[in-house]
Amino acid sequence: MAFSMNGKNVLITGGGKGIGKSITETFLKEGANVVFSGRNVQTGESTEKEFSTYPGKIKFIKSDVSLEEDTKKLFKETEKFLGSIDIVVLNAGYFPQKRISDMSSENWDEVININLKGVFLNTKEAMNYLKTGGSIVITSSITGNRVGNPGLSHYSAAKAGVNGFMRTAALELSGLGININAVEPGNIMTPGMENVLGEKYIKDQESIIPLGKLGKPEDIAYAVIFLASDEAKYITGQSIIVDGGQILPESALDLK
Ligand code: NAP
Repeated sequence: MAFSMNGKNVLITGGGKGIGKSITETFLKEGANVVFSGRNVQTGESTEKEFSTYPGKIKFIKSDVSLEEDTKKLFKETEKFLGSIDIVVLNAGYFPQKRISDMSSENWDEVININLKGVFLNTKEAMNYLKTGGSIVITSSITGNRVGNPGLSHYSAAKAGVNGFMRTAALELSGLGININAVEPGNIMTPGMENVLGEKYIKDQESIIPLGKLGKPEDIAYAVIFLASDEAKYITGQSIIVDGGQILPESALDLK
C-alpha cells in the first residue's frame, strides 16, 4: 500500500495535542511505532493512554525542544525504547500574540527558541540517529513564509527561518541519504488556536479562506505522512502548503 508506515519507528515533538496528536494517531493507524514529546506531563500521559490500543508501541517523553540537554536525552531514550529511529517529525510550536510595541526581548527569545532554535537542535540530534533513507518533516507555517500576521512578528520570523534552515539542511543532509521537508499549515482548528488566538480570530479567518472553513489537524497529518513516506524519498528541501486556498486571493473581491 502507498504511504504505509508499517513497522517504522517515529519520533514526534509536540505530539500530545492539536496537530501533533493527529500526526501521532495517523502514524499509529498506518502501523508505525511512536515516541512523542511535550512539556505537559498530564497531556502527554493522557494521549499515551488514549492511543495505547493501537498495535504499535507508543511512549510519551517529557522534553522541551528549546533545551539542548532535553533534546539529547529525548533521542537517546527514543532509540532505547524503539531500537532505532526512521522518521523525525518536528512539530512542537508556540504562537502567543504580542504586537512589536509591547514585545519584550524575553517574549522574542522564547518564541524564537521554541520555534526556530528547537528545529535546529532536534535536526542536529536527528543526524546522529537517522540512517540512510531516514526522513525529517517539519511543521512550519504560512505565517512568515507567505503572509504576515499582526501580533506574530516573532513567530513569523521563526517560521520563515525554519524554511530557510530546512533548505540548507536538505543540502547538508543529502550526503547522509536523509531528506528533510516541511508542511505549511494555514489556519487549523487546535487547542493552540482556540486558547491563544480565540473565537473572533477564528471567525475572521473563516471569512477569508476560499474553502470556507479552518482545516482539521488530520489535513496536516496526511501531508506529513506523505513527506515521511518511502514514496517521497526523492523530495527534499521543499514545503507543501495546506491552507484551504488561503494565500491565493489577490484581493477580498476574489472571495466573492
Ligand atoms: P498546540 O495545540 O498549541 O500544540 C502545540 C504542541 O507543541 C503541544 O503538543 C505542545 O506540548 C508542544 N510544545 C510547545 N512548546 C514546546 C516545547 N518548548 N517543547 C516541547 N513541546 C512543545 O498547537 P498546534 O496548533 O497543534 O501547532 C502545532 C504546530 O503547527 C506548531 O509548530 C505550530 O506553529 C504549527 N502551526 C499551527 C497552525 C494552526 O493553525 N494551528 C498553523 C500553522 C502552523 P506541551 O504543551 O506539552 O509543551
